[in-house]
Amino acid sequence: MSFKHKKRFGQNFLTNQDEILSKIMELSQVEDDEHIIEIGPGEGALTERLLEKAKKVTCIEIDRDLERILRKKFEKNQKFQLIIEDVLKVDFNLILSQGRVVANIPYYITSPIINKIIENRDIISEMFIMVQKEVAERICSTFGKERSVLTLAVEYYGKAEYLFTIPKEFFTPVPKVDSAFIKIDFYEDRRFEKIIPEELFFKVVKAGFANKRKNIVNNLSSLGLSKERIKEMLNTLNIAENERAENISIEEFIKIAKALKVEEQS
Ligand code: SAM
Repeated sequence: MSFKHKKRFGQNFLTNQDEILSKIMELSQVEDDEHIIEIGPGEGALTERLLEKAKKVTCIEIDRDLERILRKKFEKNQKFQLIIEDVLKVDFNLILSQGRVVANIPYYITSPIINKIIENRDIISEMFIMVQKEVAERICSTFGKERSVLTLAVEYYGKAEYLFTIPKEFFTPVPKVDSAFIKIDFYEDRRFEKIIPEELFFKVVKAGFANKRKNIVNNLSSLGLSKERIKEMLNTLNIAENERAENISIEEFIKIAKALKVEEQS
């Protein structure tokens, strides 16, 4: 009997999609000494490819109904490890010391999964994930209206890259949205974390994006400074006062956050 896909778990599988799977493998460049984490293996289409290359593949799958299918396919392979659990509840430190994530993740929890991997960036150096196309565009955007708090939240920790689009017809069952494969490579030198504390950076970014229709002066005034002081500060930093947050780079946000910190202290 064939598997009955569950909408609530975001189950859209890449069954019999050799071309897409080969592209994923070509781009992710899995090496034979690597430990790969796959979040949401489904029926194991990508797992099979990962097992051909990696030293070890740990799959985290929430759906107990898939356990039997996955065990039957891969149990004999020494490299295969299966954890039947909600990925958001898994302690990554207990399953790996160093590795990367390569996965077609469940889209209904895209942001929590990305946040969880970011939290584990000391042991996960890079992630190659498939996400909804619009979300991929938001994460990887460098300028303009696609940019959001999520874009900056990723940029602060690493470099995101849009790799390729996968039209919805390639999935079983066919979902409502197209997908994209992206890469997020964490900065080993922690370049932004070193120069601006997380809390201050996100406080300013969130305030900056609070109302997307408002310019940066209006949005930042929620932080307690007068509009005049904010305008003066932006002038000193060479940032146009009528600019919107979506057109402000991470470097500029860092300058703004540092200037606001000085203001707070004076
Ligand atoms: N990787 C498979 C493929 O490409 O064919 C399946 C991808 S499907 C988009 C997402 C998978 O994530 C499903 O197998 C689903 O059961 C699983 N999943 C959903 N929520 C999960 C969670 N909280 N923790 C772990 N796995 C989850």
